[in-house]
Amino acid sequence: MKLLYETGWAAPPPIVEPRLIGDTDCDVVVIGGGGGGMSAAIRLAESGADVVLLEAKSLGWGASGRNAGYITNSIAADPEMLGHLLKPDRLRSLYRYAHNAVLFAENAIERHGIECGHVKTGIVMAAVTKGQLRRARRIAGVLQESGAHAEFVDGREAGLPEGFLGGVREGIGGTLNPGEFVLGLREATIAAGVRVYEYTPARDVVDTGDGVTVETPGGTIRADRALLMTNADTGSLSIAPKNLATPTYTSLLETEPIAQDRLDRIGWTSRAPMVSLHMIIENHRVTPRGTVVFGTRRVEAGRNPLPERAPSRAVIDDLVRGFGERFPGLGDVRFRSVWGGWISMSSTWLPAAGEASRNVLYSQACNGHGFAQAQYVGHLLADHVGGAPRHEDLEAIWHGDKRFWPSVVSNPALYAGWLADRAADRLSTITG
Ligand SMILES: Cc1cc2nc3c(=O)[nH]c(=O)nc-3n(C[C@H](O)[C@H](O)[C@H](O)COP(=O)(O)OP(=O)(O)OC[C@H]3O[C@@H](n4cnc5c(N)ncnc54)[C@H](O)[C@@H]3O)c2cc1C
Repeated sequence: MKLLYETGWAAPPPIVEPRLIGDTDCDVVVIGGGGGGMSAAIRLAESGADVVLLEAKSLGWGASGRNAGYITNSIAADPEMLGHLLKPDRLRSLYRYAHNAVLFAENAIERHGIECGHVKTGIVMAAVTKGQLRRARRIAGVLQESGAHAEFVDGREAGLPEGFLGGVREGIGGTLNPGEFVLGLREATIAAGVRVYEYTPARDVVDTGDGVTVETPGGTIRADRALLMTNADTGSLSIAPKNLATPTYTSLLETEPIAQDRLDRIGWTSRAPMVSLHMIIENHRVTPRGTVVFGTRRVEAGRNPLPERAPSRAVIDDLVRGFGERFPGLGDVRFRSVWGGWISMSSTWLPAAGEASRNVLYSQACNGHGFAQAQYVGHLLADHVGGAPRHEDLEAIWHGDKRFWPSVVSNPALYAGWLADRAADRLSTITG
């Protein structure tokens, strides 16, 4: 099995855009070239702004190019808990935002003609214990009341693998190869006339009152406004709101190709992409190349500045064990590679966007479910920075210049969540 610092999805671009050397001016500087930053930069360039996009590595290097490839209308927090904590109108507006984010991301694939194995299958939040199955019924109810496309499904009728009892099927979304997607979006960004500087990290961002200056190793950028689209790395910039998010390292394991009839034999006839209903989810999907990508489960909190890293031995062992437990009929399958990436978890576990200062806006749309949402928020922030009033979907997650509570996400808490999940798994094996 190959331990990858890059990803198993696609090779990085063979030729990169230049580093910034010298000083330059622009209307808007977008910092961070993931799906969010590229989407914002494209929108700004198409509306006539002079845009600089700074990326510390190559565009798409971060979570956007290394995730599990689910386009989902989920928001990270547990829907049932949200149903208890939030007013119905607020919940409806959040699910409307998440729904529109899915449509936005699907549209971006079509609009830019990106070949990335995109399929609109929907996603199943799948139960592997009776307790999770009961929860699935309740979650389906909460989601339906909140206007989200979701229905409760039985595991056998939905063509889920043995051991997956049923769950909640999200009626929209699907899967893609995120590595191929970011390469396509990178081409679209360059073609839109965005001035892209790769391998150019922003070291410091200062709001001067009448604009913004951004220091990079090779020169300074002066702009009217700046967008921080730096996801888990945002905490490295001193202008970022305190406690904005906790970086959390998430890992994925990919098998060797598996004969299709074997997937049929274990009951996975629908090939539906799944996420489990554990406290810390597991994700399981079949790729167009016939492999299974399996991941998350045991995640690790980190601190800014983030190290470049690969999954740890303990996490890999846990994923291998988890795969064997979840798919006993595939016990002899070998693994091809394992990689990971940093997500950022906000203290509320909800997506947010707001003002780091008067001229510097930020996006915090990740929470591990932000592939579509980061792009959509980037687009909406671009319109807002260009002078448009805030769209109702941006308003749904708008945090303004308010403070964030310190996060409860920590390694002991994450480990306790993982232990509780394993205890629930064990109990369900004993009680059947
Ligand atoms: C393993 C894994 C699995 C996931 N699975 C899913 C999934 O299936 N579905 C889903 O919806 N979401 C998933 N996510 C989350 C999703 O990928 C993210 O929410 C989303 O991609 C965030 O996009 P972004 O543009 O905000 O950030 P990123 O894609 O992380 O982009 C931020 C960019 O900023 C750059 N950067 C950072 N600091 C600086 C700086 N100082 N100067 C310049 N550039 C900088 C980084 O190099 C990076 O390229 C997963 C994430 C991981 C890691």
